[in-house]
Amino acid sequence: MKNVVIIGASHAAVEAISTLRKNGWSGNITLVGDEVCLPYQRPPLSKAYYKGDVTFEKLAIKNPNFYENSDVDLYLGRRAISIDRKRCEVELDDGVKLSYSKLILATGTRARTLSIEGAELPPIKYLRTAKDVDAIKENLVAEAKLVIVGAGYIGLEVAASAVKQGVKVTVLEAQNRVLARVTSPEVSSFYQERHRHEGVDIRLESTLKRFKEKDGRVHAELSDGERLELDCAIIGIGVIPNVELAADAGLACDDGIVVNEYTQTEDPNIYAVGDCSNHPSLLYGRRIRLESVPNAVAQAKIAAMSITGHDQVYDQIPWFWSDQYDLKLQTAGLMQGYDQALVNGDISTRKFTVSYFKSGKLIALDAINSPAEFMKAKKKISRELSSGFL
Ligand code: FAD
Ligand code: NAP
Repeated sequence: MKNVVIIGASHAAVEAISTLRKNGWSGNITLVGDEVCLPYQRPPLSKAYYKGDVTFEKLAIKNPNFYENSDVDLYLGRRAISIDRKRCEVELDDGVKLSYSKLILATGTRARTLSIEGAELPPIKYLRTAKDVDAIKENLVAEAKLVIVGAGYIGLEVAASAVKQGVKVTVLEAQNRVLARVTSPEVSSFYQERHRHEGVDIRLESTLKRFKEKDGRVHAELSDGERLELDCAIIGIGVIPNVELAADAGLACDDGIVVNEYTQTEDPNIYAVGDCSNHPSLLYGRRIRLESVPNAVAQAKIAAMSITGHDQVYDQIPWFWSDQYDLKLQTAGLMQGYDQALVNGDISTRKFTVSYFKSGKLIALDAINSPAEFMKAKKKISRELSSGFL
């Protein structure tokens, strides 16, 4: 019996299952995931779930019936430890061996860890899973002191959620502005101001020397000698793609598992999708690895289409969103390499866009509380880039 084995049970995996069945895959589907639960949505972890606005049950990407109706063999709470490409077999951590005719790697990323003194102390936490959030919330009641390291998406979304609950939040960012990886100085400075207005203590160009425990209290010691007492620290300094399974099996990896425009690795029986994969962007003319739900879903669809004999090239315009306070940031395209930024609208109304141009052409747009402009820009960028001007 033919069998598609999917490793990693999250956003990409669910879409792969759904598309495989919709496209008539009649063989087995086996899902292996090292978290013990059915796949759940990760975006609310730093937003609604963090704030306690939704229960864990509400995060389920699909209800249990979906897996039953899709006839999926579930291996949850189990880790794939090796791939034997000659035998087309995956070995799990309990010794079980699964044969595959096609294998989809959807192993995602893991939090990058801090390697400084004291980083292993109990109040120092990372946020990637629902369990991580539960552990963080145990330490954080109103008036508690939270130090967040990294002013990226996680850092700022958690800061916005926590400060509204009366937690005293300090954010330490090594760079001279927040969200530096993903947006322009104009948008960074807007978010910095808003967070400060809400009472978040944002420290830029700030480096952490160590965490120290004294008399049962932990504090963060900054490079300039300042000490910040804390009840909890959340480290949000980016992620590392989970490529080890693929690399150990001899597949090419370079900031992600290297795939072609059909999400296929150099082994025609193995696909890699979502946060763990590095793919050629036909639109931007370079290889990229994206960390977003829309990318995970779109790539998984392409892999499942290819497996069922409907090859389609992956050329979706990258897009992202972030919710902080009453601000919805939506980003269409990739702004890296822009040579001109144009602000449209009045920043003080908290409803504006920033367009990014390269050689006079629109390559990306940030829309703050402007969903219609975001939708328009997504189409426009996609059209312009498809005509191959870059
Ligand atoms: P992942 O969701 O990373 O899942 C991979 C799974 O594979 C994990 O469960 C992992 O444990 C498992 N795994 C890895 N190796 C093995 C193995 N060997 N055996 C078995 N299982 C394995 N994106 C957005 O677009 N918008 C947002 O607002 C947003 N908010 C986010 C908020 C938070 C707090 C976090 C952490 C992420 C957020 N993201 C957001 C990013 C988004 O969650 C990821 O892009 C998305 O989850 C990627 O999906 P994936 O299926 O590729 O991998
Ligand atoms: P991130 O967006 O990469 O941001 C991490 C930030 O921390 C970067 O600005 C980084 O700067 C900085 N940093 C790195 N090392 C540091 C240090 N030692 N001290 C202080 N700052 C440091 O990653 P993240 O916020 O941790 O998010 C993790 C993952 O979750 C990502 O995949 C992200 O896309 C995803 N996520 C997405 C959303 C969303 O889409 N709305 C929300 C939450 C999480 P450098 O760039 O210089 O390293």
